[in-house]
Amino acid sequence: MQEATDSLIARRDLLRIGALAGVGMATLLGGLGVRQPRAQGISSYCNSFGKAVGPHDALQALIDGNKRWATGMQTHPGEDPSQRECNAEHFQTPFAAILSCVDSRVPPALIFDWGIGDLFVARVAGNSVVPILEDSLRYGTESLGAAVLFVLGHTACGAISAAVDYYLRQLADNPYEESIPEFAPADPSSKDSGAPSPEYAFIPPILPAVKVARRIVKQQGGDPNDPTQVIPVATNQHVILTVEYLSSRPPFRRLVKDDKLLVKGGVYDIGTYWVTVLI
Ligand SMILES: [Zn+2]
Repeated sequence: MQEATDSLIARRDLLRIGALAGVGMATLLGGLGVRQPRAQGISSYCNSFGKAVGPHDALQALIDGNKRWATGMQTHPGEDPSQRECNAEHFQTPFAAILSCVDSRVPPALIFDWGIGDLFVARVAGNSVVPILEDSLRYGTESLGAAVLFVLGHTACGAISAAVDYYLRQLADNPYEESIPEFAPADPSSKDSGAPSPEYAFIPPILPAVKVARRIVKQQGGDPNDPTQVIPVATNQHVILTVEYLSSRPPFRRLVKDDKLLVKGGVYDIGTYWVTVLI
């Protein structure tokens, strides 16, 4: 936290004296047709640190920001005029990419207490890594340089509850469980289950986590047909499976191997305001 604070304080100084570390990124983004920063000798990093942030510092910044939020000690970085202006005039340089749910109670910039230009966020009901979002996250990390990719689940998630409810309703009438893949976000319904399609397209990508969750609940002596027991386990497992999946994908795996990225995940408790890192 101290390092993050120092970096925040030092950001304006960095903006004044300039930083050349962004030249490589600028070249890359130029190739992608992204707007270049003006060549005026000022920093080309417009996040709250005013510089590139390594993977472990980026993860710590998320943890520290959530601590500020959970304890009511927010500092609201990245809202000041200089950072707004920097981001308006140059390309974005977020330090973290986040995959989260659309739930209005879980806005990443608030619960991590970071601001304009800091977080590159992809959101969908149930925080599933559907293909378009995976490519969005790839752009945020591979091209924009976000150093941590964080999958953010949350308690009391309506999408997870809907997936558990759908799953349990099908079990009575279909040889359904065998048709659920271990994890296949691109095409989770590739095998014909004989079950009716769920009402919402965001449900199928969550079903593999429900399958694993029921197995865990049963192993622990619980009732795998009781939604109240399955839902919290499915919430955690969906995050864990998604992190494992993303970590296995070539663009992210390569960045991790080169020490340019951490792929992590956790669950936000909407009652306590804390994010617990699971994986
Ligand atoms: Zn949700």
